[in-house]
Amino acid sequence: MLNVGRLNEGVVLDHIEAGKSMSIYKYLKLDKMDCCVAIIKNAHSNKMGKKDIIKVECPIDELDLNVLGFIDHRITVNIIQNGTIVAKKELNLPKKLVNIISCKNPRCITSIEQGLDQVFFLADKEREIYRCQYCEEKYQSSKKKK
Ligand SMILES: [Zn+2]
Repeated sequence: MLNVGRLNEGVVLDHIEAGKSMSIYKYLKLDKMDCCVAIIKNAHSNKMGKKDIIKVECPIDELDLNVLGFIDHRITVNIIQNGTIVAKKELNLPKKLVNIISCKNPRCITSIEQGLDQVFFLADKEREIYRCQYCEEKYQSSKKKK
């Protein structure tokens, strides 16, 4: 496997569906963070054929990893400390999403008032349905394969 240096502290996100690493980069707001990031695209995977991997070197609590559960809960999250994997984080659908998705309802208060947080709650865990906190507009994630 391709080796892009060892991390001292940070996370390695493995088994990302090939092609999804850039959107994860954005969801994790890595573009706004001053840390070292390595993105490996189309790495060989026995399980998946191709996969993406992201390595982030930074203090772990600076990352909002819960959002990964929303993007794809099959991603493997390895927590690295002192150069070794100390834990794997289990991903679940987050109960609440703040400023991750935005409400599509043109009459929603978040569409009218700028600067309001976009808050969605998990309304149906099985069908992965979220609803806007303000107007209950539905948001269903497009991925429906298990
Ligand atoms: Zn709304």
